[in-house]
Amino acid sequence: MQCDRCGGILRENETYDYHGKQFCEDCYMYITNPPKACDPMAVASATSIRKELGQSGAAGLTELQKQIYSLIEQRGKITKEELLKIVNVKPEELEAQFAILRHCELIRAFKEGSKVYLTQW
Ligand SMILES: [Zn+2]
Repeated sequence: MQCDRCGGILRENETYDYHGKQFCEDCYMYITNPPKACDPMAVASATSIRKELGQSGAAGLTELQKQIYSLIEQRGKITKEELLKIVNVKPEELEAQFAILRHCELIRAFKEGSKVYLTQW
């Protein structure tokens, strides 16, 4: 059996059912709890919490978020594909981290030609 989203092979005890389709755990989590990249309320609360805590830049981030942020800081701009190769996590995991970093107004995406780059806010 294969995951309906990523095509990964599913073992019987690792299969998650959602609306009649079969998913692996990661895809199930992604589908049932997608990162909300453009949620203005989430942005407002994430930035105000960070302000309350006196955090700016990479302060208060997880190791993975710091790694992503500092790579973007060093390079100025980077594609998701390049980042994925460097940080070595699943695309879903990276998307979730982007959503958080965007909420905190640390990074943003922009398009140049046919490529989407990530850069500092
Ligand atoms: Zn999957």
